Amino acid sequence: MLDVETTPGLRVLPNYVGGGWQPLESSESLPVTNPATGETIATVPVSSLDDVDAAVRSAQDAFEAWRHTPPLERAQSMFRLRDLMIRHRGDLARTITMEHGKTLADAHGSVQRAMENVEVAAGIPTLMMGYGLENGAGSGIDEEAVRRPLGVFAAISPFNFPMMVPFWFLPYAVATGNTFVVKPSEQVPLSQNLAFQLLEQAGFPPGVVNLVNGDRSTADALVDHPDIRGISFVGSTPTARHIYARASAAGKRVQAAGGAKNIMVVMPDAILTKSVSNIINSAFGSAGQRCLAGSLIVTVGGVHDALRDALLDAVGQIKVGNGLDPSVTMGPVISGAARDRILQAVERGAAEGATLLAGGGKLQPEGHADGYFVEPTVFDGVTPDMSLAQSEIFGPVLGIMRAETLDEAIGLVQSSPYGNAASIFTENGGWAREFQTRVDVGNVGVNIGVAAPMAYFPFGGARQSFFGTLHGQGRDAVDFFTDRQIIIRRWFGADGTGVHW
Ligand code: NAD
Repeated sequence: MLDVETTPGLRVLPNYVGGGWQPLESSESLPVTNPATGETIATVPVSSLDDVDAAVRSAQDAFEAWRHTPPLERAQSMFRLRDLMIRHRGDLARTITMEHGKTLADAHGSVQRAMENVEVAAGIPTLMMGYGLENGAGSGIDEEAVRRPLGVFAAISPFNFPMMVPFWFLPYAVATGNTFVVKPSEQVPLSQNLAFQLLEQAGFPPGVVNLVNGDRSTADALVDHPDIRGISFVGSTPTARHIYARASAAGKRVQAAGGAKNIMVVMPDAILTKSVSNIINSAFGSAGQRCLAGSLIVTVGGVHDALRDALLDAVGQIKVGNGLDPSVTMGPVISGAARDRILQAVERGAAEGATLLAGGGKLQPEGHADGYFVEPTVFDGVTPDMSLAQSEIFGPVLGIMRAETLDEAIGLVQSSPYGNAASIFTENGGWAREFQTRVDVGNVGVNIGVAAPMAYFPFGGARQSFFGTLHGQGRDAVDFFTDRQIIIRRWFGADGTGVHW
């Protein structure tokens, strides 16, 4: 069994650098908490500038040999990694639940999504191919484009998908011949510790993959390091904006995914018996802490009352508790600070005039008095000017708004500063098509509450939800982690006659 020491007592988590586990002498460290119990389960160090430099240097040293390793061999490391992930998926899922709080079923789903990126990256010999044209630059002069890796890349990831998010990037970066450094969220560093145990077993040469623990200062040190060629960031919009500006000013490639406020539009012909479970999973799955969580509903026309009643029934069925308990359907939020921030947003919503229909308070499931639980919360009567409509809450809070027409509902989607995802529930193809065409969001769901792209499609948003051009996953990731070199080639022949073959 794969394990990470989680005994209070508390080993400081090591970094993984140059093919070995490195304990840090860091003077600064932070507690890692199980949000279901409030217990400290590990201690995470804050890597210093020197620690970051050591990781980047080891990645830089490994680059030359790794980039010349045949793509087929690099792909074989992906197959080995996938086998290890399958063998240890239970350990990974349990660790995700312990450090993040989401249910075990949800944690398994995110391991699956991580693994699918490894599977796609195993196709790198095909994905990375260039293209060429015989006589492309003139008679007897052929032209060719080859994809080449660039050097050392880094990922800086958020707390809400401890295992999956770094895997939107790492498999593609490494399969294309780059070397890599991951900085996990300081709130959830344990899953990446396990992931790196597997990367170690998969036999990547020393320095190809590296793990540095730390907080925002560590993230900035990576962004500023002169040998880092590009940054893949996922987190809140203010941080994404900061990382994008700082990394691009230093001339680096950067893709920075930010926060979200996703709207689900329910049309009068929606099949409520099917739609409601989708909506509930979207709003309350992972306690609303998914970047694709639907946090607002817009009911169109007369569907409002029936939908509201069905939603309230379903919310009443949600069982809140420790995600390790298989009967639980919603876990805690990540921290006491997050819980208090969410409860403040609820108070503000009520003060602004929205009608609280369900929840709105703290919860203390039996045996979990010190966990960070928030009741599943539903507001009706939300209007576009309210903070409930404008600000990302990132917790189990769903607001209901009303529109008379599809046009008005689309206007509400467009009035949000964010553009990660939007969904429509309808059986009318014309409405669905109008919706998908007019909304400016990265991911559209039609009768799908969580429109999460599969690994072979790009994962990214629009407007304030994404800064950059190329997204994570699939071909976008291959483009991000490679550059194209053009080769124009002719042969004069031994006698200089200019033979063309
Ligand atoms: P966060 O922005 O607080 O932190 C993300 C990462 O950035 C962490 O590793 C953290 O250490 C680092 N960081 C934080 N502040 C920083 C700063 N000032 N300078 C440099 N680095 C800094 O985000 P979070 O709370 O961990 O994650 C939740 C957020 O992530 C939500 O807003 C959610 O919508 C978003 N998210 C977006 C997507 C997406 O695909 N768009 C996916 C998952 C999560």
